Amino acid sequence: RARTQGMSQWVDYENGMERESNRRFTQSRDLYHALHNNEIRIALQPQVDLASGAVIGAEALARWTRADGSQVPPSEFIPIAEACGLIVPLGRQIIELACQALAALRDAGHSRLPIAVNVSPLQLVHRSFPQELAATLARHGVDPAMLEIEITESSAMEDHLANGEMLARLRSAGFPIAIDDFGTGYSSLGHLRQLPATTLKVDRCFVAEIGKTHNRLAIADMIVLLGQRLNMRVLAEGVETREQAEWLMQRQCPAAQGYLFGAPEALPAFLRRLEGRPAHTA
Ligand code: C2E
Ligand code: MG
Ligand code: MG
Ligand code: MG
Repeated sequence: RARTQGMSQWVDYENGMERESNRRFTQSRDLYHALHNNEIRIALQPQVDLASGAVIGAEALARWTRADGSQVPPSEFIPIAEACGLIVPLGRQIIELACQALAALRDAGHSRLPIAVNVSPLQLVHRSFPQELAATLARHGVDPAMLEIEITESSAMEDHLANGEMLARLRSAGFPIAIDDFGTGYSSLGHLRQLPATTLKVDRCFVAEIGKTHNRLAIADMIVLLGQRLNMRVLAEGVETREQAEWLMQRQCPAAQGYLFGAPEALPAFLRRLEGRPAHTA
């Protein structure tokens, strides 16, 4: 009886494994087709100057809309893309779309508004990444200073020497560098200081606690201070309330992003948002 039970557990296990690998196969096949059918687009979320409320840039966020109109969130398809090797062509597509958006912004008179793109560490291992970026930008007549490279704190820290070297090359090629989701990645301050980053993005979990708990509030406070000391621009993510914005302003945090100012939107909506406002000239 024990043997039969063991056997049936084994069969369950095998079936489970098969289902799991089938699921992964289906997902990566779907993603492959999505990429080739232009189902992957970007949405732009405004980044604002907290003091004036002026839009100072945008973050490009990947969006997958299936043929039936349903949306697959990036928290689902980015890990799949990373696991099956599609992140490199997907990343290329995002950068291409960001450059198209930058060219459209320039043509609409907003040539000084940068766009940030999220980059996976798997894209950084390709030694030709900076040249590839430069070629894409050149094709659209866009300056590297307009394309900010966002890398999460946790991935900037894994294999920090190799990533650090690539980030340094990107920085010296003129790309601004942002450390994303800062405060969640347990990096040492020594490594952070060595990263050639220009912006520190305060993770939204710390912003969410503003007006609630004291402990986390202290963390947000500390990150803002840390960025200032390291001569980085600090940008708070996930700002949803006036209270949070005011608290951040009092702490001299210069920039923010979040639903309070605007959700990620398609390029035409982002352009309409800018209409009637003077092009930012910083
Ligand atoms: P992230 O780079 O930290 O992007 C910010 C996320 O917070 C976005 O989620 C955005 O829609 C959401 N968000 C913005 N404002 C608010 C707010 O006020 N409240 C709340 N609760 N959320 C807000 P999204 O678009 O679902 O993206 C999730 C993550 O997926 C991103 O986090 C990023 O790590 C990753 N991702 C998105 N696009 C790409 C991409 O093109 N490449 C790579 N490698 N990763 C990407
Ligand atoms: Mg980001
Ligand atoms: Mg983030
Ligand atoms: Mg994130």
